[in-house]
Amino acid sequence: MTVNLSVPGSDTPFRRGIDLGGTKTEILVLDAQGAERFRQRVPTPQGNYAAILRTIATLVDAAERTIGGSGSVGIGTPGSISRATGLLRGSNSVCMNGKPIKRDLEQLLGRQVRITNDANCFALSEASDGAGCGFDVVFGVILGTGVGGGIVVGGRVLDGPNAIAGEWGHNPLPWPRDDERPGDPCFCGHSGCIETFLAGPSVERDHARATGEMLTTHEIVERVGHGDPASAATLGRYEERLARALAHVMNILDPDAIVLGGGLSNIESLYVEVPKLWGPWVFSDRIDTRLLKNVHGDASGVRGAAWLRPMEAR
Ligand SMILES: [Zn+2]
Repeated sequence: MTVNLSVPGSDTPFRRGIDLGGTKTEILVLDAQGAERFRQRVPTPQGNYAAILRTIATLVDAAERTIGGSGSVGIGTPGSISRATGLLRGSNSVCMNGKPIKRDLEQLLGRQVRITNDANCFALSEASDGAGCGFDVVFGVILGTGVGGGIVVGGRVLDGPNAIAGEWGHNPLPWPRDDERPGDPCFCGHSGCIETFLAGPSVERDHARATGEMLTTHEIVERVGHGDPASAATLGRYEERLARALAHVMNILDPDAIVLGGGLSNIESLYVEVPKLWGPWVFSDRIDTRLLKNVHGDASGVRGAAWLRPMEAR
């Protein structure tokens, strides 16, 4: 796939992206070739919506004083904007929930603002010039403290009428075994969600349940490297569950590439073992889907925000 570097509707060759996270806010400006021209990261003001808006305005101002130009701004943040109300919902920065952040920022910055979910930004970043570059349909997966996902088709984020496309973390773990039912309760109100099996804290809980020992995910992976059978068993359960969960997505979306991000994407064995395990669950006699590690790491959120196009404004 050829990446189209021109930005329809943009009045400058620069792409401005902001990653608005719970603890930090970062701006990145890419030039027309996708090279970084400006980057700045500051703490996100806690519990103060007005201060968060001011922080974003200050970052945009700093970028434009440094490199010049002006134009639309892409923002990636947890949660999504309700199409019905225009209000943000589902953000872990709860002071932003229920706020018309897109409208407020457009007013404050005097320009068009594009906002989407941070998992969508991850998928867009990797599909644009990361691990998923050159693939038509890319499913980007975040495996971190939570589990999220985003879908990019032909270089564009697939959003959907409810702005939830790709949000697989709160589907149930498919083909559950008896000992996986009903599963742990999830903050969403259900039990046995994919997130309750595949997020980092879930792995730690699973290991503690099997061994009586509370370890971090990092420690578990480290012990696998030292030949610890109990840790290897925990990782094996994780890989098999991830295989089932991804097979479920493959049967619906059939992506060309699945790109993993988030802290757990650093477990190298996933890319070898999971494709060996998903075969029985995928409704095909042959599987050409690639399972890939992200290229841009933590920068994917802010890079994806910069790659957002005006039509993806919601
Ligand atoms: Zn859930």
